Amino acid sequence: MKIRPEMVYSHSSPREFVKRRSAMAHKITEVCVSCGACEPECPVHAISQGDTTYVIDAVKCTDCGACVEVCPVQAIIKLQ
Ligand code: SF4
Ligand code: SF4
Repeated sequence: MKIRPEMVYSHSSPREFVKRRSAMAHKITEVCVSCGACEPECPVHAISQGDTTYVIDAVKCTDCGACVEVCPVQAIIKLQ
């Protein structure tokens, strides 16, 4: 496997990178009203403001679920 920079930044090894990439991830849907409440709750800084809604970086997300609890409009879902 070729080592890419994001593997080194986000994960301890290529094996861990593959494991996390194949895991479920959380996603912010179009229901988001961009209140910003979820961003500071993320322990790995995976949430940022996008063009129309906040967005989750699936590579950084560890599926902890902390952001789901604070969203006032239930815009954050766990992908299967
Ligand atoms: S599930 Fe956890 S790690 Fe993923 S975006 Fe939400 S708070 Fe961050
Ligand atoms: S808490 Fe919910 S509505 Fe607010 S920015 Fe995050 S996803 Fe959007």
